Amino acid sequence: MARTISLLRVRNIGIMAHIDAGKTTVSERILFYAGKTHKLGEVHDGEAIMDFMDQEQERGITITSAATTLSWNDHQVTLIDTPGHVDFTAEVERSLRVLDGAVALFCAVGGVQPQSEQVWRQSEKYNVPKIAFVNKMDRVGADFFGVVDEIKTILGGNPVPMVVPIGKEDKFEGVIDLVKMKAIYYSEEDQGRTIIEKEIPVAKMKKAKTWRANLVEKSAEQEDALLEKFLETGNLSEDEILSIIRKATITRRVIPVYCGSAFKNKGIQQLLDGIVNFLPSPEDLPPLVHAGADENILRAHSDDEPFAAMAFKIIADRHMGKLTLMRVYSGTIMAGTVVLNSTQKKTQRIGRLLRIHANRQESINEARCGDIVGVVGLGDVRTGDTLCCQEHPILLESIEFPAPVMSISIKPESRSDNEKMGAALRHLSDEDPTFLVSFDEETSETIISGMGELHLEVLVERMKREFGVVAEVGRPEVAYRETATILVQGQYKHVKQSGGRGQYGHVYLRLEPRGPGEGFEFVNEIKGGHIPDTYIPSIEKGVLKAMMSGPYAGYPVVDMRVTVYDGSYHEVDSSDFAFVEAARVCFKTLFMQARPELLEPVMSVEVIAPEDYMGPASGSICQRRGRIESMSEQGGSKVIQGMVPLSEMFGYSNAIRTMTQGRGSFTMHFEHYETVPFSIAEEIIKKRREANKIR
Ligand code: GDP
Repeated sequence: MARTISLLRVRNIGIMAHIDAGKTTVSERILFYAGKTHKLGEVHDGEAIMDFMDQEQERGITITSAATTLSWNDHQVTLIDTPGHVDFTAEVERSLRVLDGAVALFCAVGGVQPQSEQVWRQSEKYNVPKIAFVNKMDRVGADFFGVVDEIKTILGGNPVPMVVPIGKEDKFEGVIDLVKMKAIYYSEEDQGRTIIEKEIPVAKMKKAKTWRANLVEKSAEQEDALLEKFLETGNLSEDEILSIIRKATITRRVIPVYCGSAFKNKGIQQLLDGIVNFLPSPEDLPPLVHAGADENILRAHSDDEPFAAMAFKIIADRHMGKLTLMRVYSGTIMAGTVVLNSTQKKTQRIGRLLRIHANRQESINEARCGDIVGVVGLGDVRTGDTLCCQEHPILLESIEFPAPVMSISIKPESRSDNEKMGAALRHLSDEDPTFLVSFDEETSETIISGMGELHLEVLVERMKREFGVVAEVGRPEVAYRETATILVQGQYKHVKQSGGRGQYGHVYLRLEPRGPGEGFEFVNEIKGGHIPDTYIPSIEKGVLKAMMSGPYAGYPVVDMRVTVYDGSYHEVDSSDFAFVEAARVCFKTLFMQARPELLEPVMSVEVIAPEDYMGPASGSICQRRGRIESMSEQGGSKVIQGMVPLSEMFGYSNAIRTMTQGRGSFTMHFEHYETVPFSIAEEIIKKRREANKIR
């Protein structure tokens, strides 16, 4: 089957926004104008189509990152939903990994809010080209140029308005297109579908000319040849402006800025034009690289290359079972083909292929380079896995997910809940790589871990709604870690002689601390067959077993190198089990000599409140063992940014509300692990001993 749309006309984009900036409404208008939906449902009616999970509609925040494909001006545009809440880091990371460009959405009143700032920074990490849309121009206090300014001052971008608003607040009528130099209005009769182009009103001419000059100048600055022409003639053609702004957007030198009111059906079609005009196609991307260090395969984004794709999202669907969303990076793939999962090194069959629309799925026979499609029938696939052609294997750089920082115990309410809970948890953890499930053998409790209170709350709620499992939730606990701070080495011999066959395992281990986040490494330095090779994996297993529940406080041990450098064995009495035991006990003993310490997750916290409440707000950070990193001003309020240990943040939303009489708010996200001060670590360990969580 031939391509129906050229790759140059493919756009895979996300909309990044602070909660409430209007992402759901904007996405919905986009689908409406692109003819994908025939009716407009407002968010407050609970009818929004992108939000297809019940709970999202109620909460009004977008949790799931679904992908939906539409067409605009002969372009295939796939919208990958990017959540604005940082508690859902995994969703942000995974969507940024597979999209090629993004629309940064701002509220014309709220401007650049802390969370938009954070998602922006994440998008910069992935080199995502962006255009901006200033929404809610109809609201009291709307300030288009104020937001343009903040894109520069707060986000460090180089904004270039492509339109300027005509009127604002309840007088917001439409926009002036600075490329065409026309006034654009939207018919009220058909919910803005019909665009009315008129001459620029005289009263607006001066402003339009000033900003047109800015646009031409900013374009001319980008290329010497154009600058010369501009200096000679004082102008550039429409095509020249469009093509240079496109290049400069893709290389992230400028941010084209649009504005409108999604709610009042204004400005969305211009935004869509901006998406197809300026955001990159897969052909604009650098070639794919093989993630393994030794091979350096470079591969073009093209249908003619061998097939390679990345699974970026897994959805547990009640009807279809497991649905995997994948982005095809090169080549083509037919439904029913067997492919290599190069991450897991096994073959898998692509069952059905689906094109995802906002409210339905369409079966397709084939997916091509640049497509984002659903796959039914991939059993063990995980988020971030590479799927590729068996004859031409490639491993794409995966998606990085942070480890969970908080956990709670959950108890099914009844026997029937108990039976269903396992399956529900498996589904949910399949979907979300930052959601882990474990079992505490000491207390016989199921423990779920995630990125924050809200994250876990949402998952428990989903378990109830989607899987009908009611569970009682314990107190949230911080996911502490243990690590060693000095090098130690020593030996342990596990010997048992009890009638018949005995047990014999003998190891010498060296424990060394590694840097934060460097993880675990196991090294085998056995020479001369002092321990046969077959027992080496058992030694690693014993060490890992000891590390799962650390000797210091019962928390997982991280960031260590463990080397087995000597030992001995017995022809008859040695066994896998004996070496597991020898290594486990040896590690436990040595670890306690290696000056262990406790690590805790530290959150980056941003508090926004009117100036009057700044004293108590900064005090509240210091009281919580936090430190203040910066203070700034934003839209008449003050913003404090600081670092606070997660364990001190429980109940902070109430505290902030009381402290600021409801006028302050805060956001937080996991930053890194830090050492817990000794006296506090001792307290934590004492409590755990009392609760019998350390053997
Ligand atoms: P999201 O949280 O970013 O997905 O934002 P929503 O689309 O759910 O919008 C949040 C609220 O703002 C809803 O009550 C919308 O009706 C409202 N809203 C969205 N766009 C506009 C707009 O252009 N003008 C006004 N006045 N309200 C809007």
